[in-house]
Amino acid sequence: MPELPEVETIAAALSRAVVGEKIVKIEVFSPAMRTPLTPLLYAHLEGRQITSVRRRARYLIIGLDDERCILMHFGMSGVIRLEGAEVPKRKHEHIFLYLSGGMILRFECPRRFSICEVHSDLATTGVPRELESRLGVEPLTPDFSGEYLYSVSRNRKNPVKNFIMDNAIVVGVGNIYATESLFAAGISPLRPAGELTRPEAEKLTTEIKTILKRAIAAGGSTIRDYRHVDGSEGKFAQTLLMYGHAGEPCPRCGSIIECVKLGGRSSCYCPECQK
Ligand SMILES: [Zn+2]
Repeated sequence: MPELPEVETIAAALSRAVVGEKIVKIEVFSPAMRTPLTPLLYAHLEGRQITSVRRRARYLIIGLDDERCILMHFGMSGVIRLEGAEVPKRKHEHIFLYLSGGMILRFECPRRFSICEVHSDLATTGVPRELESRLGVEPLTPDFSGEYLYSVSRNRKNPVKNFIMDNAIVVGVGNIYATESLFAAGISPLRPAGELTRPEAEKLTTEIKTILKRAIAAGGSTIRDYRHVDGSEGKFAQTLLMYGHAGEPCPRCGSIIECVKLGGRSSCYCPECQK
């Protein structure tokens, strides 16, 4: 699943490439998705200019010059590419947005869990109001601080890993980044969130920010389906210390890395380094 760093990387690349372009034509090849794509055909997008491309949580938001936006979520397997018409259509490409500069914004999703919708009721942030109202703070903004994490976690009994992956608390901390930041902070993923001390909450927020920034700098982590806009792969995956290393020795202390299921997601951790 494309996580926050991947979507941030995509948004930055697309922003450079398509802002100012007009949508000249839209083609929908197979409308059955998590939300049907049929409305896109009747949204009168032709002639609209793209004014911004931004990320909120793991959503990609393409702002238009008529105060609407195209909201995309990549689900488990969605991929967006900017390519010319000379590249043959792939089997699972469902939407083509033809741009005035001659390129095509192409949306692929083999498993059809992606979202591509047109919205008009936008908050001042440019994000659909309904979506904005249920999302927590952005992890790379000052709103996400140790003090914030400490205060919202009081009396919370669920495991800290599930807690930091809860989008209503902080957005975009997926399994990879939760796993790695908990290791870096020396905190067991199983600890009840409410037991975090103030210094631990401080350390954990710092590590989450650090690991997300590193991943963005590396262009995302490229686990399984994810690819960049230009088809290249991210370099971050090779630097993961815990994620995907169950049964191997901990890089810090040599103990065997354990793996438990938390909230349906596998969670690797070092029982010695993470308490
Ligand atoms: Zn260890």
